[in-house]
Amino acid sequence: MSDLIYSETEEKNRVEKSTLYLVATPIGNLSDITYRAVKVLSNVDFIAAEDTRNTPKLLSKYDIKKPLVSYFEHNKREKGEYIVSRLLSGESCALVTDAGTPAISDPGEDLVVLCRERGIKVVSIPGACAAITALTLSGLPARRFCFEGFLPAAKSERKQRLSELAEEKRTVIVYEAPHHLVSSLNDIYEAMGDRRIALCRELTKINEQTDFTTVSEAISSYKEKQPRGEYVLVIEGAALNKEKVFDQSVKEHVEKYIKEGMSKMDAIKAAARDRGVPKSEVYAEINK
Ligand code: SAM
Repeated sequence: MSDLIYSETEEKNRVEKSTLYLVATPIGNLSDITYRAVKVLSNVDFIAAEDTRNTPKLLSKYDIKKPLVSYFEHNKREKGEYIVSRLLSGESCALVTDAGTPAISDPGEDLVVLCRERGIKVVSIPGACAAITALTLSGLPARRFCFEGFLPAAKSERKQRLSELAEEKRTVIVYEAPHHLVSSLNDIYEAMGDRRIALCRELTKINEQTDFTTVSEAISSYKEKQPRGEYVLVIEGAALNKEKVFDQSVKEHVEKYIKEGMSKMDAIKAAARDRGVPKSEVYAEINK
């Protein structure tokens, strides 16, 4: 391994004036924070926090006492300008979002854009990210993947997005809140067919749990239990799904759906969708 991988200089770690630091914080387990993150949080002039009730718990664990400014989705416009004006006047700021890496599916993204527009230096202090934690656990191909963040909340937009994703060959990562989980799983099934999926919930927390299952099995299991906690869904890409589907004959494929309780017509429709062929082709095949 090259000795160039690690380098630490006091100069590189010094907090500079007029700089925004994006500081990754734990996604659950309070110990998942880097030494550098603690150093930066301890040395900036102020901290912009997405959740000013949660962040003090983290700061008090590491004995950090700094003024907090709230910065979240519904005040990001005026607070963004306020933070930028302080940065331009020479102060340094650390941005911490609700959990994980700022700018990944949170309003940190907008503050970075604003800083870039105003010529303010931005430094990212890497650390936890729910998407990467889930991907590494999933056992699905991690060499190439596609991160979708949250699916659109509006049903028609969500369906449109999922139908685009149906063709995606890379592993797909989606963030999901518990109250949308079941309807999203149903929409995923309808648009993308039955696939392997890892449902990762409460990552790094006491009730951490990952279910390695299929979309149809996940739907059945949530008929008996309530989704709880925040989720990351890691979904098998399209090419792999087709290979799996083609392990079985067209007839076996349709029969599998009928055994699961579908009518013959629905089973034909589902098999045709999975295989990317017209219904008539499946119909003709099973009636040979
Ligand atoms: N910036 C964060 C990151 O780096 O992962 C993501 C912020 S986004 C607003 C919050 C979403 O991330 C949650 O709804 C959930 O889908 C996912 N998430 C965050 N923490 C999680 C955890 N401990 N377990 C599972 N999912 C988590």
